[in-house]
This record gives sequence, structure tokens and C-alpha cells, in this order.
Amino acid sequence: MTPPSFLTHLDCSKTGARVDAGRAHNLSPEGWPLLARYDLDAMTARVDRDAVAARDPVAFPGFWKWRELLPVARNEDVVSLGEVDTPLIETPVTASKIGLDGPLLVKDEGRLPTGSFKARGLALAVSMAKSYGIRRMAMPTNGNAGAALSAYGARAGMETWSFCPDDTPEMNVREIAAQGGHVFRVNGLIHQCGAIVGALKEEMGWFDTSTLKEPYRIEGKKTMGIELAFQLGWTLPDAIFYPTGGGTGLIGMWKAFDEMERLGWIGSERPKMFAVQAQGCAPIVKAFEAGEEHAPEWLDASTAAAGIRVPKAIGDFLILRAVRASGGTAIAVPEAEIEQARLMCGREDGLHLCPEGAATLAAARMAVSGGLIERDARVVLFNCGSGLKYPLPDRARTLDRTGTITAQMVS
Ligand SMILES: *Cc1c(COP(=O)(O)O)cnc(C)c1O
Repeated sequence: MTPPSFLTHLDCSKTGARVDAGRAHNLSPEGWPLLARYDLDAMTARVDRDAVAARDPVAFPGFWKWRELLPVARNEDVVSLGEVDTPLIETPVTASKIGLDGPLLVKDEGRLPTGSFKARGLALAVSMAKSYGIRRMAMPTNGNAGAALSAYGARAGMETWSFCPDDTPEMNVREIAAQGGHVFRVNGLIHQCGAIVGALKEEMGWFDTSTLKEPYRIEGKKTMGIELAFQLGWTLPDAIFYPTGGGTGLIGMWKAFDEMERLGWIGSERPKMFAVQAQGCAPIVKAFEAGEEHAPEWLDASTAAAGIRVPKAIGDFLILRAVRASGGTAIAVPEAEIEQARLMCGREDGLHLCPEGAATLAAARMAVSGGLIERDARVVLFNCGSGLKYPLPDRARTLDRTGTITAQMVS
């Protein structure tokens, strides 16, 4: 049985102009991101939240259970690699270290195929591309998106191209190639890699899969918001800390909250949304503080948290709108605190964060000490990828097994 998709059309996120979803699109005719719209009234009458949530995970793995609220209409277009609901893990010792009494929950997205939440977005983008008969997809990437594109693209029998800044984590670059993707290291930042895709897409016959330049990656990412509400008994936390690069996940979750409220799945309460960036690349924070609608390009961007090293985001105004509407804020974290937070959570609670996830922990600490959230708040951090994909400090000591090894030496 194929559950129906209630997708009706796409809207320009800036002008509201309507676009037909029956063929493939990149940006709106006005040059802005497109957002998928659904017939939520019809869906309210016909779809039961709890029945959908209880679907068999073999037939509907992970986020595929929310099919009515996703754009893919036909089962044969679904490209799947064993998706799962990612766990919400309590980190009590870390919570007390940062001065929180309420639960500090980490949504560990590293458990998804290809080890990051980019799987959510690319599963949807590749499935929709398949439905449109697209054979070649290309994108600029800081690593995790390219890994997910190559994996889902391989699964769909497509050819994919990824263009990475040359200091992208090595594991990601190799992972892309191991999954059959063409991968290039480029001596520039992600938006400069994007310019290569733009310049060659006609000649190469590529579908441009850049963040928010096609409308369905965000539909995959929004499932983080649905899954979170489901896991919290159809409530939302007091605060969400999100590592913000292109912002797809933050915008997507905010969209999902609206859709779920209109469906009667949740109430009107919303979490404060905290857009977390690194001090070495904080265009959204700068624009937030200046009260601007758009964020100009950040020059000389640098941070070890590769996923949030995005100097210019096309959806900047959507990120800023959501953060402001939520009563949250945008926070820039000092680089040194990212690694400290990463090691603290691993040491204290046994949970290994990626640098981007660690940045959200460092930001939560700043928000608690700055009085931006209550001490008894229920807080969710997004750890968006597996920490295993990133370099780690070498803390091992060496032993010579041919000599005498004493208890003192291993203490
Ligand atoms: C891509 C990425 C981000 C940023 O996600 P956006 O939704 O594009 O802002 C954060 N962390 C990791 C690990 C990523 O791969």
C-alpha cells in the first residue's frame, strides 16, 4: 500500500509565487528558495498521527514513515539505505557541568546512513530527482552532504559530482569516492565550489543539488522536527541548539512545527531556536545582531567545524526569520571551546560529538550562563554527524612489551 503524498505545489519563499511541483525545479523564477506545500486540511481529515508514527520500520524505515508529509508519491521512487529514528540521549553529567538542571538531550544524527543528517535531505532530493528522471546530480559540499549524495545517488543508479574545499575532512572526501561519486578538492570555500557547479551545469547536464537551490533536501531535514515531537510525546523542548551552516535543518524544523500545528499534531508552543556558528565564520550571528534581513558574505571563514563553515547562505533570511520568531538568538562560539566541549561530553557522558555538535554544547553553556535559557529548561542539542569522521587529538601513550610493564606505567 502506498500512502498518498499530500504535496500540492511549491511556493517562492520570498514572494509567495506558486510553482508547479510536477517537474524539477531549482530556485523560484525570482531567484529564491522554493518551499513545498501540502494540502494540510485534507490530510487532517484523513491521516491519524499515531497510526503513522506506529508504522512498521521495515516497510517505512526512519523518516519514511512520514510519507504523507513528504513529496515522494510513488514507492518505486523511494531511495532508501536503512534509515532509523535517531536516539535522543540524555547527558546528565554534561548538563550539570554547564549549570543545567533540566534534561540536556542530544539528538544523535550520526546514526543515520553515511553518518550524518545529510542523509535525510539527500534521500529526499535523490528520490525526487529519480521521480523526475534526472540522471546526474552535482553539489558543492563540506563533506557530509557529498557523502550522502554519492551513497543515495549510487543506490539510485545515478552519477554524482561533489566539489569540496581542499581542507574538507579526509574521511569524507574518501567516503564520497568509495560510494562511486566523482569528487574534487578545490582551493576555495563552499560557495566558490558552488560557482563551479553553476558554471558547468548546462554543459555537463547536472541537476544542481546545492543547499536550498532545490526544494526537497529541506523536506528531508524537516523530519528532524517531526521525529523530535514524536519522541517527546508530541511536545517540543524549551530550546533547540542547531549548528547552522546553510540552515536547512533549522528552517526545515520550523516549517515542520507549523505543518504539525495545522494538522493538530502539536500545539502552538515553540522552542527558542538558537542558531549556532563558530566565531571564525558567523555571518548569521552578525546579521542577527545588526537586525538585518540578509547576511553578507563572511570573509576569511575558518573553523574546524566544517559543516558550519558556510560564508554565505541563500536561505539566510529564512534562518533569521525563524530564530527571531522563536524568541531565540544566534550565538558565535569561540573555536577553542568547540574542542573542549567535544572532549567534555565524551569524557563525562560517553557520547562522542562531532565538532559541529560540540559547538551547540558550547553555545548552550553560554546561553545558560548568560541567562538566555532557564536552568530547568528542557534543551535539545543537534549532533548532526558522527564524531568518527573528524580528526581527533592523539592521547594514546606507548608501551614496550619487551620491557617490564608496571602498574605505575598504566595508571
Ligand atoms: C551540514 C552540516 C551542518 C549544517 O547544517 P545546515 O542545515 O546546512 O545548516 C552541521 N553539522 C554537520 C555535521 C553538517 O554536516
